Amino acid sequence: MKPSDFKYFKANSLERALDILNSEENIKIIAGGQSLVPIMNFRLGQPDILLDINDIKDLNFVSESSSSLEIGSLLTHTNAINSNLIKLFFPIISYALKYVAHQTIRNQGTIGGSIVNADPSSEWPLLISLLNATINVRNKFKKREILVNDFFDSHFVTNIEDDEIVISVSLPKINKYCWAFEEHSSRKGDFAIVETGIILELEDNCETIKNARIAIGGVDEKIIRLEKIEKKLTGKNIYQDLSIYKKLDLFEAINPVNDNHGSVDYKNYLSDSLLKKLLKKCVYSRVISNVT
Ligand SMILES: Cc1cc2nc3c(=O)[nH]c(=O)nc-3n(C[C@H](O)[C@H](O)[C@H](O)COP(=O)(O)OP(=O)(O)OC[C@H]3O[C@@H](n4cnc5c(N)ncnc54)[C@H](O)[C@@H]3O)c2cc1C
Repeated sequence: MKPSDFKYFKANSLERALDILNSEENIKIIAGGQSLVPIMNFRLGQPDILLDINDIKDLNFVSESSSSLEIGSLLTHTNAINSNLIKLFFPIISYALKYVAHQTIRNQGTIGGSIVNADPSSEWPLLISLLNATINVRNKFKKREILVNDFFDSHFVTNIEDDEIVISVSLPKINKYCWAFEEHSSRKGDFAIVETGIILELEDNCETIKNARIAIGGVDEKIIRLEKIEKKLTGKNIYQDLSIYKKLDLFEAINPVNDNHGSVDYKNYLSDSLLKKLLKKCVYSRVISNVT
C-alpha cells in the first residue's frame, strides 16, 4: 500500500514548527514515523501535510532537576535505553523498552510518537502512567502541563490538540523503591498481549510499602492503574503481606476483549499470573535508593 499524496515540511526550530501547525489544516507531525507511516500506508490516516520535527534539537534531551527527570519528546527508544540518567533513576524504563519491537524500530521510534500514538499495549504509555508523569505540550500561544491521568483518552486517542506539540515528559523522582516489569507477547518483538509494571515505594525500614503503583496494558482501551490493589498493598509488609492481592480485584478493574491475540479468559489468566509473578519479583529486586 502507498499513502495518499501529501506535502512535506521540515522545521528546524520549535517556533517554526508551531507557526506551521497554527496556520495549516489536516497536518500531522512526523517523528520516528514508525507508527504514522504504516497508518498512512494503510490509508487509515490521510494528512495533507507532514511536519518533520527531527531537526529540532531542543526536543532531544534527558535532564535532571532536584525533583524530577525530564525527557524530550524526540528521544528515541534506543537512546532512552542507553541514557545513564534514566538507568540511574528509572531502570524500569531501560528494562521495559527492550521489549519494544526490534532494534531498527527502537532506533527511530520516539517517546513523543509513542505516547501520542496511545496504543494501550505499548511500553511508554504504561511507563509514564506508572511513573505519574506530567506531559508538557505547547501550541504557538501557550504551554500546558497535562497529568498522565488526563492525557490518554482511549485506544489511539489522547487529549492533545491538533496544533500542539509534545515538548517533554517529566517524571517525579522516587526515593526508595523496588520495581518489576514484564509482558507476554506471541513472538519476541510483537506488541504485548498483556504488560504489567509495579513500583513499590518503601518506608525507611525497606519493608513497609509507603505507596504501591501497578499499571497494566493490553486489557482495556487505555493503560489501567489498579487502584484498589494499590490501596490494599499500601502500609503492608513486602515480605509478609503480598498475599492480600486477590485476582477478583484485578478482574473488576480490567476489560479485555476477544481478538486474534486471545480470548478474554486467556487475557485474564495472563494478567493474573503476570501480576502474581511480578509481586514476588519486586520483593527480591534491588531497592533503588539515595538517588533523589
Ligand atoms: C513492526 C512494528 C512493531 C512495533 N512494536 C512495538 C512494540 O512492541 N511496542 C511499542 O511500544 N511500539 C511498537 N511499535 C511502535 C513504535 O514504538 C513507534 O516508534 C511509536 O509508537 C511511535 O513513535 P514514532 O516516533 O515513530 O512516531 P510517529 O510514527 O512519527 O508518530 C506517531 C504519532 O505521534 C504524533 N507525534 C509524534 N511526535 C509528536 C510530538 N512531539 N508531538 C505531538 N505529536 C507527535 C504523530 O503525529 C503521530 O500521530 C512498533 C512499530 C512497528 C512498525
